[in-house]
Amino acid sequence: MKRAEVLLPVALDRSFTYSVPEGLDLQPGDIVEVPLGGGMQAGVVWGPGDEDVPAKKLKPVEAAYDLPRLPPEILKFVDWVVRYTLSPAGMVLRIALRGARNAGDESPKRAVITTGDAPARMTAARERVLKTASDNLARIKSDLAREAGVSVGVIDGLIKEGALRIVELPPDPIGSGLDAEFAKPELNAEQAKVAEELIASVRARKFSPHLLEGVTGSGKTETYMEAVAEAVRRGRQALILLPEIALTRVMIDRVAARFGAPPGEWHSTVAPRRRARTWEGAATGETQIVVGARSALFLPFKDLGVIIVDEEHDTGFKQDDTPVYHARDMAVVRAQISEIPVVLVSATPSIETRVNADAGRYRHHLLAERYGGRSLPDIELLDLRDDPPSPNRWIAPPLETEVRETLARGEQALLFLNRRGFAPLTLCRACGHRFQCPNCSSWLVEHRFRRQLVCHHCGHHEDVPPACPKCEMPGKLAAVGPGVERIRDEAAELFPEARLSVLSSDITVGAERMRAELDAITKHEVDLIIGTQLVTKGHNFPDLTLVGVVDGDLGLGTSDPRAAERTFQLLEQVTGRAGRGAKPGRGVVQTFDPGHPVMQALKKHDGEAFYKAEIEARADAALPPFGRLASLIVSAPDKRQAELYARALAQIFPETPGIRLLGPAEPPLALIRGRHRMRLIVKAPRTTDLSGFIRSWLANAPKAPGSLQVQIDVDPVSF
Ligand code: ADP
Ligand code: ZN
Repeated sequence: MKRAEVLLPVALDRSFTYSVPEGLDLQPGDIVEVPLGGGMQAGVVWGPGDEDVPAKKLKPVEAAYDLPRLPPEILKFVDWVVRYTLSPAGMVLRIALRGARNAGDESPKRAVITTGDAPARMTAARERVLKTASDNLARIKSDLAREAGVSVGVIDGLIKEGALRIVELPPDPIGSGLDAEFAKPELNAEQAKVAEELIASVRARKFSPHLLEGVTGSGKTETYMEAVAEAVRRGRQALILLPEIALTRVMIDRVAARFGAPPGEWHSTVAPRRRARTWEGAATGETQIVVGARSALFLPFKDLGVIIVDEEHDTGFKQDDTPVYHARDMAVVRAQISEIPVVLVSATPSIETRVNADAGRYRHHLLAERYGGRSLPDIELLDLRDDPPSPNRWIAPPLETEVRETLARGEQALLFLNRRGFAPLTLCRACGHRFQCPNCSSWLVEHRFRRQLVCHHCGHHEDVPPACPKCEMPGKLAAVGPGVERIRDEAAELFPEARLSVLSSDITVGAERMRAELDAITKHEVDLIIGTQLVTKGHNFPDLTLVGVVDGDLGLGTSDPRAAERTFQLLEQVTGRAGRGAKPGRGVVQTFDPGHPVMQALKKHDGEAFYKAEIEARADAALPPFGRLASLIVSAPDKRQAELYARALAQIFPETPGIRLLGPAEPPLALIRGRHRMRLIVKAPRTTDLSGFIRSWLANAPKAPGSLQVQIDVDPVSF
């Protein structure tokens, strides 16, 4: 290769051609350093380079990194995602290089060990360190400091004075040493049949998409783990994707229990060094299993054998900022490129996936029974029109009674409300003033735990003032409606003896805290759990027998075409937490609309009827997956600028039979983070190449001012 096309992980939509110096042998996928602007930049060799660029304009590749090459599958995948999402190529590449940055040079682990020499000066702290280190084990500095109960400074001092020295240890391999036969479960007949089919598809080494649908607690995880085991058995790799970082911890423990060693972990809060080693382990094949969030799809696996997408219906798989992509859909693409099976797993599949399965595009596997003959929870719809709670109370008397009885039996109960904070709205009872976010068109939410008013869209927060900022009347601010913190207060009053735990992302911050909280629940150190959607999935609490849904109608009141689907999925999941152990469970759903199809489907455990009706309604309205949608959000600090540009785009919209443009119009959140937004929606038949259509439309767009942004979302999941 005399010239190389190099793609750079920066917000540019194009690659550049460089000359390749004599003696440097480059292949596509090699990570290289090239000059860009005044400095140097890491990039990836993408192809042979453009022969039409005059030689004297070319700059040379500076060097090639000693890092594993990105495999051809990843180059293809990045290209695919770029074409589909219309994102700048460099922004997509950036995800694929996220682990490479710290790889290589940082891999040896620096540890300390005693030299046997005494330091010039002895102190009590130093003595403790030397005593701890006297076993001659090499420890990293912070571990030694923690064990000896001193600060790292004490260790550094001892190194300087020659009593300790630094040694380099090879890093522990991540996600390796896993044994496919370690704790193989005895599957029941239903599970075994599905597992066999999945195993066969791993052996087949061909692309095959699967839907594994099974009621909560049917053993879906145990079952798909056998497909993962088969990949491991064959010396190949497996990827388990989860919609939320909070769920990875639980899954890592499960994989470790099944395979005798922990898998690699991949998401944004894993320390960079660890991430780098997982990235390298994926590339060398050493890392056998990765459990991760959506960006794990971009890991340079040497020999991926299967992809599992657990909770496939979850909107957490959608990334909202550039590149806007849906990891479930991209997992199918990735599997296609790598010619492997992909298993989408859910108790409540997305309508899209159900339609694909019904049409025979995906193999449909069903687990109809809960494992061990357990029954699904009985669902009671509590009609709030007949049994209203007292004013400014949210738990109606029949639910209160049920909780009381459950606790009296020594069992656990969960109260679910999918709303963070204390109250969704704060107003002044004297003048009616409402607290609005200065940057967004949304109300501020009172968080008593943090003692602040918080915007859930931009994170803006302010202290709760002692008096109304408008009429200056003190003591008149009132919280309107419930949030999970308010339910906590109510529960504390109603059940003073119960040990409470609140699970909400503002309170249960960080993976460790979450894990501790979940452990406490599992060990029954907590009687009553109050939580947001954080508690709905992934956990097995054996003593939990009652789930009370405080507001079943929350989420149905929006104009989003997926509102009913979402609500059904959420409520089925959360009530499915009850009765997973030996004792049967119950769900009590407070609602003003017990006749609603979602409520009826829940009560009867009849997802089929609900899916059938939803699918028909979607088909009639030509909504996804029977038609396609894309949304373009034009945003700018200046409202008029956003409006003008959105209108200019509408004016050049190419008239095409079957394809319609809706808008521009203000979306429900017209202002976010100080940017005014206008939305255009494109509606097209199912078979349209929507990305291609939008690309040619925008090719003629007028030049946008620098402060203006156009964000494209092909196949959006929410409105
Ligand atoms: P799902 O993923 O469908 O919600 P899980 O795989 O978490 O279900 O299974 C629910 C519970 O039943 C778990 O505690 C799991 O360990 C147990 N379980 C399921 N199948 C088996 C099996 N074949 N052998 C032993 N335990 C099982
Ligand atoms: Zn805001």
